[in-house]
Amino acid sequence: MALFQTIKTVSLTYEQPTGLFINNEFVPGVEGTTFETERDVDIAVKAARTALNGEWKHITPSKRGQLLSRLADLMERDTETLATIEALDNGKGVGMARGDVAASAGCIRYYGGWADKIYGQTIDTDSESLTYTRHEPVGVCGQIIPWNFPLLMWAWKIGPAIATGNTVVLKSAEQTPLSALYAAKLIKEAGFPPGVINIISGFGRVAGAAIAAHMDVDKIAFTGSTLVGRQILQTAAKSNLKKVTLELGGKSPNIVFPDADLDDAVNWVNFGIYFNHGQCCCAGSRILVHESVYEQFIEKFKQRAEQNKVGDPMNAETFQGPQVSQLQFDRIMGYIDAGKKAGARVVTGGARHGSQGYYIQPTIFSDVNSDMSIVKEEIFGPVCTVQKFSTEDEAIELANSTSYGLAAAVHSKNIDTALRVSNAVKAGTVWVNNYNTLHYQMPFGGFKESGLGRELGSYALDNYTQVKTVRVRINAK
Ligand code: NAD
Repeated sequence: MALFQTIKTVSLTYEQPTGLFINNEFVPGVEGTTFETERDVDIAVKAARTALNGEWKHITPSKRGQLLSRLADLMERDTETLATIEALDNGKGVGMARGDVAASAGCIRYYGGWADKIYGQTIDTDSESLTYTRHEPVGVCGQIIPWNFPLLMWAWKIGPAIATGNTVVLKSAEQTPLSALYAAKLIKEAGFPPGVINIISGFGRVAGAAIAAHMDVDKIAFTGSTLVGRQILQTAAKSNLKKVTLELGGKSPNIVFPDADLDDAVNWVNFGIYFNHGQCCCAGSRILVHESVYEQFIEKFKQRAEQNKVGDPMNAETFQGPQVSQLQFDRIMGYIDAGKKAGARVVTGGARHGSQGYYIQPTIFSDVNSDMSIVKEEIFGPVCTVQKFSTEDEAIELANSTSYGLAAAVHSKNIDTALRVSNAVKAGTVWVNNYNTLHYQMPFGGFKESGLGRELGSYALDNYTQVKTVRVRINAK
């Protein structure tokens, strides 16, 4: 099996690594298959364990920070290549993908800054003791990422794990393995010791499940569906009780009050649902609008959604490319059909875009009720519902009537309304008069069935460290 392939696109030619990245080398799977098996996972975990107990243990925190910072520089240097890979592999517009590369490099650099700022405490219990805490790495971290933001999820996972001195076995999604492998090349170039970061690209039910069940993996971080998140938690419980953090699905409400700047709200609502083709865990898929501006809002939102540029991901102007796979395309079209059959009104869209490829028209449903699957379930595509409310209490009740709790937004010019509703909504992130403005400095994660733990910001460091208390007896003179 060739371990590198020359890829030619309209704009550039580059060497795409394939295979597995273990101990700083690209290697074929042991059974010669294109996607790796449980034995390959085992080899990667052994490499990560050896690295953890070897040179990596003695590298200073400052040096860890320098390595991450160098990696961020290399990612920025190769922005065009990484963005092109993302567009080819995932289908997102290359212009949007450049934004993903910038956010990924920013995240890696941000965690590089944290590496030498991980402190414990000294605790004064009495004059005959010295008590202090150490924030030690958890160990070998298994990380499983999805296909919607392949490089960004890679960075969110690797940054905090490496800053805190862990080693990593990361599995990319089977639909989108390419940017993770290209970025692996940069790990070696940045100077990381072998085995610190290992990248594999297998199927979830084989390689993912093997990581979750592995007795020598100390922690697992997962982003993906709630269904698989539950399985991972069970597998962790049945194996070695590895620490688990989960970032799962959502059905996030985007609430528009009558005193909002309506044109501004429409722009953010549009970005909230259609960014990344609706393939965002925090997509604002349930739009709740006050009855007094409902009709006006729908008319403006329809016009706005119809202006979104749907098309070729390699065109820098493209806002919405194809969905990631036939499976996702079929699932989303299934939801659109279900919405129509249940009697919801199609305000715009409601069909495939063009006649080939996995393109779907930006779709808005109105006249929906809370029993419809399009209102209850995560669609993960460019489809949203608009519901009417008459009081603030009703808006809050509708917003919270879901088993998810990842994100929400409030659009209002009244600071009291904005803050009251932000406090009342059960969600890990609430945006006021904006949407989807994630930043690596801000913690991100879910209430309720949207997840466990927080990624990003200083909060993510807690997932990757364990606290050791040391109590020293001081002999009295
Ligand atoms: P998924 O949860 O099956 O896949 C996500 C990752 O988990 C992939 O790397 C996959 O290989 C791995 N995986 C799958 N089964 C596994 C298992 N048994 N053990 C360990 N790892 C496993 O998601 P999907 O099938 O690609 O998409 C289905 C739905 O999940 C989407 O429609 C969407 O609703 C949701 N989703 C959410 C996110 C998110 O960011 N929260 C991302 C992708 C998909």
